[in-house]
Amino acid sequence: MKEIKIKVKKKYKEKLIKGYPLIQKDALINNNYLIQEGDIIKLMDENNKFIAKGYYGKQNKGNGWILSYNENETIDYNYFKNKIQQAINLRKKMYDNKDTNAFRVFNGEGDNIGGLTIDYYDGYYLINWYSQGIFKFSDYIINALESLVDYKAIYQKKRFNIGGKYIEEDCFVKGIKAEFPIIVKENGVNFAVYLNEGAMVGFFMDQRDVRNTIKNNYSKNKTVLNTFSYTGAFSVFSALGGAKKTTSVDLAKRSRKKTIEHFNINNIVCEEQEIIVEDVFKYFKYAMKKNLKFDMVIVDPPSFAKSKKYTFSASKDYTDLLKQIIEITSEKGIIVASTNCSSFNMETFKSYIDKAFVETNNEYKILEEFSLPSDYRVHPNYREGNYLKVVFIKRV
Ligand code: SAH
Repeated sequence: MKEIKIKVKKKYKEKLIKGYPLIQKDALINNNYLIQEGDIIKLMDENNKFIAKGYYGKQNKGNGWILSYNENETIDYNYFKNKIQQAINLRKKMYDNKDTNAFRVFNGEGDNIGGLTIDYYDGYYLINWYSQGIFKFSDYIINALESLVDYKAIYQKKRFNIGGKYIEEDCFVKGIKAEFPIIVKENGVNFAVYLNEGAMVGFFMDQRDVRNTIKNNYSKNKTVLNTFSYTGAFSVFSALGGAKKTTSVDLAKRSRKKTIEHFNINNIVCEEQEIIVEDVFKYFKYAMKKNLKFDMVIVDPPSFAKSKKYTFSASKDYTDLLKQIIEITSEKGIIVASTNCSSFNMETFKSYIDKAFVETNNEYKILEEFSLPSDYRVHPNYREGNYLKVVFIKRV
């Protein structure tokens, strides 16, 4: 790959020297028109002194990621192989775990290469490319992965814009094609995974510890409302934990079929559970009118969502969302409040929670908190990467 020297603006210099891994959008002074995605850029200070080198690749977040602080290091097959090897070594325990065979092998900048993730689903590997720039290294990366692991097949998703489209249909790379769904295990519970249906594969692995906690410590004999339920992952864990009944609410039509599938593959009797395809905000109105109360309400909305009638933005509307949830949570009930929004941190999230209780004249106690599990490694100088925030709240 071509290496191009580029000066960075003074304002960004210190941050980069201190180890911030993202090349921010307007950090570069000149020559932008000379660079192409996938080029290696050497970031220089105003005196032409080397700071770091990285690749140029456009994402929402920025224009690429730092790869090395060593001017002489070449970004080649061996470079990627070493980084992936290190990541695999750090997940040795996960590979050996008999109860869980789905986890993240490589977590972008947390494993020192931003814009790239690799997930493992019982022998199947899924690579996510977050820019055209990182995709330029795909031969190196795929070959390196192949040399390090035994696999059934490798799949990939291009999570960047190609001619107005984000996901390509056929994401098979090599190996023996899977029959979908692949059934994987998480703490002994089954999940159906589809690597051929767009960006979301059927469950979010970063909630693993939260789900297990709900099952083991919070579900017994409870009525559980799972809002923004997607494929019902929290409902499955609640039901297996002994919940009296689960109610799953999601707007997407596919959620019913997918939730039933998850109940079925875990031998949960579907007829005893309720699945509602509806806008949750509409459902809240209904539940309040009927004076419904739940012992536990789980809320894990997308950072941003638009339905026919409502727009939801986690950073603006989380307090209002919780105010409605408090109304339908029984006294002494539990609320599991979750967000994957990276634009605010745990402290701010807790201030949204506090506001909701204060404004509705209710009291609460925080029982426990979760952030990303250990396979979702976070870069020490890129705290935004630690996006997941989950708080278990008790009404008191
Ligand atoms: N909590 C889920 C993941 C949620 S993904 C889990 O643990 O697996 C976000 C989900 O919110 C999607 O399935 C989407 O269909 C749903 N959604 C978005 N806006 C909604 C709305 N207004 N009402 C109900 N569901 C909504």
